[in-house]
Amino acid sequence: MKPIFGSDAFDTDVLIVGAGPTGLTLATALAARGVPTVVIDRLREGHNTSRAAVVHARTLEALEPLAVTQPLVERGLRAQRFSIRDRDRVLVPIAFDRLPTRYPYTLMVSQAVTEQVLLERFAQLGGRVRRPCALVGLHHDAHGATAELDDGSCLRARYVVGCDGMHSAVRELSHIAFRGGSYGESFLLADVRLRGGAPRDEVALYFSPQGMLVVAPLPDGVHRVVAPLEQAPEQPGADDVQALLDARGPQRERASVAEVLWGSRFRVHHRVADTYRAGRVLLAGDAAHVHSPAGGQGMNVGILDAVALAAALGRALAGDAAALDAYVSARRPVAQQVVSFADVLTRLATVRPALRGARNALLRTLSRLPAFRRRLAWRLSGLVYR
Ligand SMILES: Cc1cc2nc3c(=O)[nH]c(=O)nc-3n(C[C@H](O)[C@H](O)[C@H](O)COP(=O)(O)OP(=O)(O)OC[C@H]3O[C@@H](n4cnc5c(N)ncnc54)[C@H](O)[C@@H]3O)c2cc1C
Repeated sequence: MKPIFGSDAFDTDVLIVGAGPTGLTLATALAARGVPTVVIDRLREGHNTSRAAVVHARTLEALEPLAVTQPLVERGLRAQRFSIRDRDRVLVPIAFDRLPTRYPYTLMVSQAVTEQVLLERFAQLGGRVRRPCALVGLHHDAHGATAELDDGSCLRARYVVGCDGMHSAVRELSHIAFRGGSYGESFLLADVRLRGGAPRDEVALYFSPQGMLVVAPLPDGVHRVVAPLEQAPEQPGADDVQALLDARGPQRERASVAEVLWGSRFRVHHRVADTYRAGRVLLAGDAAHVHSPAGGQGMNVGILDAVALAAALGRALAGDAAALDAYVSARRPVAQQVVSFADVLTRLATVRPALRGARNALLRTLSRLPAFRRRLAWRLSGLVYR
């Protein structure tokens, strides 16, 4: 089919490129508003891996109107506490159970389950994902945008949204810069069964001269272990995870690895797109921002982008031209804050051994202040972005 640039004949109101958590949230939220969409993804089927495992209170609140929260909560595990530790010493204890929300906890659930729940809800609303189908070209004008697909066809939409992840074709084809850098290290990530040492109701972030270590509970007796490493193995085994726990984790009661269920390595960048909008083209999720998993914000920020963008697109389609710029000015600073927060955590975690005592003393002093603990709880849970 020949591309029809500048035409007023539209195949759909919104073309969503990418059916990860961001694209699926946007698709569901637009379907709930009755907005016609087409959702494409280049993969034959969705990823079936654990990846982002934390869903914060604010995200659960924002997903409530989509009827997604309840099924998600039923399939996850509630962690009521978060702590920053240096070995066995708790430097900062954070309790989520006093937060003024219906979800006073961090929900631990694998990303595959989160995507499945979103997909099921989208299907209930009559939606489906067209796959495998990749966007390979994009042209936009004052009235809409024309997407070229890898089967040679074209699709014209009033708006196109890039929810197509870190290497976003939508962002690149729209010439939007993605500034920032990469962390030198890679991250090891593993879902394991542990004996001893690790609580089932708490996410523990260990600061250590060798780098951070996160040990967090997942449903079905599983723990998630995440740590930056100079050279993380591609397929981490029990010995790799054990070495990390021994070097950075609890000492009094050793956590020993009984089984590795899934493991991976990933590289982390800290980048934010110069803008989330170029005319009729918009960005959300990892296409717009990527950052360290410290604090577990990545997927959550993407889901909240999508909820905000669905409302903005609804208003824009009804004639409110300013709604999309308001989306950009509201959401881009959030990504910048998350990048800075993750950087502070990384720097604090890896201070030189000579400064470790001073850091611990400072954190313990600060953590005696209820206002400090409350601020951290609000930031981690995302309630600060209400
Ligand atoms: C191994 C691994 C571990 C991770 N662990 C954590 C973690 O512990 N904590 C955390 O917060 N985050 C983690 N992340 C990051 C987290 O997975 C992302 O933040 C999240 O997936 C972002 O969602 P998204 O929907 O914006 O993008 P993605 O999930 O990347 O989805 C993008 C979708 O777009 C599709 N797509 C791409 N290009 C095209 C195209 N041209 N045409 C059509 N479709 C296209 C892709 O197939 C994909 O389905 C991890 C990521 C990886 C890879």
